[in-house]
Amino acid sequence: MTLAAKVAVVTGSTSGIGLAIARALAAEGAHVVINGFGKPEDIEKERAAIEADFKVTARYCGADMTKGDQIAAMITETQTALGAVDILVNNAGIQFVSPVEDFPIDKWDQIIAINMTAAFHAMRAAVPGMKKRGWGRIISTASAHSKVASPFKSAYVTAKHGLMGLTKTVALETATHGITVNCISPGYVWTPLVESQIPDTMKTRGLTREQVINDVLLEAQPTKQFVTQEEVAAFVVFLCSDGAKQVTGANLSIDGGWTAG
Ligand code: NAD
Repeated sequence: MTLAAKVAVVTGSTSGIGLAIARALAAEGAHVVINGFGKPEDIEKERAAIEADFKVTARYCGADMTKGDQIAAMITETQTALGAVDILVNNAGIQFVSPVEDFPIDKWDQIIAINMTAAFHAMRAAVPGMKKRGWGRIISTASAHSKVASPFKSAYVTAKHGLMGLTKTVALETATHGITVNCISPGYVWTPLVESQIPDTMKTRGLTREQVINDVLLEAQPTKQFVTQEEVAAFVVFLCSDGAKQVTGANLSIDGGWTAG
């Protein structure tokens, strides 16, 4: 167990990629804080399962990633309850698909807040403790859309490109403190986020469900396969290991070759 006694906060981990990351870190011995929305009974089931499966402490924090004060409080509360925040995974994210001229302003603000600004608030709160202990790992779930654009995703593409800029900057600021700061950039991973954008894409582009899956989603991915949540989680575990201590300020693709072309 490479991460025994480390403490990890994973935002947006009540579902999808974040939950897989939290479970993978716990499997390596890290205590974890999960965060995100959902039915209280479902969240409690996931939290308890992490404790039962991996014999670590798992806490839940319902901080809203649009609220800077709640994000800072999540970091402080974790430090008080579990002694530290050694690993921060900025993963919470939402999507909205629309031509720019119709893009709802409140959706733009929400996507920028959750997908980008939340990572700033969390890093701002977590970095001092990491510096003090001389060890830290910050990993943000960006996207292939941090490197390339697709039509109708103006807010998402903007936020993910911004997340990369934040990552590079904080990597430079923390490089001599034993802290690494990286982005991982998945292509399409089969999660509720991808499934939920299919109806809008069908409407916006006038396509059937099968056409959206094969001609829009998997069209971009040369392997013609979805990335799995477990593959993304394994990537995060590697970045937390000692073997990755010279990997910092990077934007690492896990996209079946999408951005190679
Ligand atoms: P998901 O919808 O399954 O999970 C999103 C998580 O974020 C959930 O836990 C949700 O409750 C949480 N969340 C949403 N709004 C929140 C808020 N205001 N405050 C706190 N938590 C909030 O989605 P996913 O596909 O697992 O996406 C996770 C991350 O991966 C996102 O940043 C997404 O952009 C990125 N990503 C996903 C894919 C993909 O194909 N699924 C590809 C590249 C990048």
